[in-house]
Amino acid sequence: MSKVLITIFGATGDLAKRKLYPSLYRLYKSGVLEEDFAVIGTARRPWTKEMYEDVVLESISSLVENEEDAKTFASHFYYQAHDVNDSEHYETLRELSNELGEKYDTDHNKVFFLAMAPEFFGTIASHLKSEHITDGKGYERLIIEKPFGTSLATAEKLNDDLSKAFSEDQIYRIDHYLGKEMIQNIFAIRFTNFVFEKIWNRDFIDNIQITFAESIGVEDRGGYYDHSGALKDMVQNHILQVLSLLAMDKPKTYHSKDILAEKIKALQSIKIPSTEEVKEDFVRGQYVENDFNGQHFVSYRDESQVDPESTTETFASGAFFVNNGRFNDVPFFFRTGKRMTEKGTRINIVFKKEDSIFGPDQKLQQNVLTIYIQPTEGFSFLMNGKEVGKDFNIGEIKLDFRHDAAILGNSPEAYEKLIYDVLKGDGSNFTHWDELKASWTLIDKIVDVWSKNEVPLYDYKAGTMGPKASFDLLEKYDTEWNWTP
Ligand code: NAD
Repeated sequence: MSKVLITIFGATGDLAKRKLYPSLYRLYKSGVLEEDFAVIGTARRPWTKEMYEDVVLESISSLVENEEDAKTFASHFYYQAHDVNDSEHYETLRELSNELGEKYDTDHNKVFFLAMAPEFFGTIASHLKSEHITDGKGYERLIIEKPFGTSLATAEKLNDDLSKAFSEDQIYRIDHYLGKEMIQNIFAIRFTNFVFEKIWNRDFIDNIQITFAESIGVEDRGGYYDHSGALKDMVQNHILQVLSLLAMDKPKTYHSKDILAEKIKALQSIKIPSTEEVKEDFVRGQYVENDFNGQHFVSYRDESQVDPESTTETFASGAFFVNNGRFNDVPFFFRTGKRMTEKGTRINIVFKKEDSIFGPDQKLQQNVLTIYIQPTEGFSFLMNGKEVGKDFNIGEIKLDFRHDAAILGNSPEAYEKLIYDVLKGDGSNFTHWDELKASWTLIDKIVDVWSKNEVPLYDYKAGTMGPKASFDLLEKYDTEWNWTP
């Protein structure tokens, strides 16, 4: 399986160093990549092969147990200085590609990882084809990173550019959340546990809550973020992907074709809100200065590279409705933001209230299944039980399971799993164009209403869980955010 030539565009960048080289090394150590693979790194800097090997070694240093082994791994890496806009450079790249293909006996299998800004994707893809770097002899797969456009129109343009050189089943759009252990676990929870499978619908589920909270601010990404915002940076991709896994019907098999078909159906069934519904059911916010946890945090508008009058939202919250029969009228609440109280990605499945035979004095808790995605990973289930004592009193009981940190420490990272999937040709954990189209259609509608400034941009203090309006939204639906440790 490992026979492959991997070409990384943007080889000197942050993503390549922090994620790609360590992931490739782990795949090498686990035997997925063996002798018959090579990597070409390209970027503008005039590095030599030796310099590139040193960078690769440096980026994997914390994983290395055997120096010789690491050096052998790094010897598979070759560097080609290359400006992606310059056609002539692709000829040199083709020659190197052919030479390494033969040297490492890679059977013409090629993976191209575009770890660069999306504005370059079209140029790279079209040159790969026109300069015959792709030759159709082995498998040829293209991995791209978000953002996949900034609206439906720009996503369509990007997709058109890519489709001239690669077919849909050759394109792997990374959403790294889909490589996370507990996101993949949603399949196991839903489809291996009879008790949940049978009640995973509108008859039993009251609402679903998805929280993607970040404690950090915009750090050094202010310039990028100020043109994006929480809706495009988090909701369009990660939150809607997670929502599709929660809302979809059961796939016929656990194969990418069947899984994608159900995910696409779920995303296409999300109701496009009317202008009035956007105003009612979606909340935007921006953090303002605050002292929290012994630290002073500045307002978003005072962050570096951010417009001092910016109206970009650093927090987004709302309610989606999935009209797929299974979940009609069940709100899927979401919230995501920067500078929130703590970092935490969680899903709560809140089950319906039951009439009780125990009278008004005994307050019953709604059952809640919580899936902890990060930083801790596991599940909890909130239920009712009798409190110990001679009187009959109902109390809340929480069954709590967290994965062992030591086991998780050795588990594959999201990028490692996703690159492994690409080598196997398994597209289950990647975003299909039809999913993107559905999600951008939805997001465009919200952006359209928000950009007219007819809805408030609420302030929230740095270190809080967002503006009050996000709490009021759930109250309107007779529920509240679940957020216990
Ligand atoms: P970066 O700015 O650190 O690296 C960009 C790379 O592109 C560099 O190697 C640079 O030399 C190369 N490059 C730029 N212009 C070039 C040109 N004309 N010709 C050849 N090479 C050129 O960026 P990054 O953080 O590594 O991100 C890469 C992509 O991945 C972006 O699309 C980003 O949005 C996405 N992404 C990054 C992360 C992350 O953790 N860094 C996470 C998610 C998505």
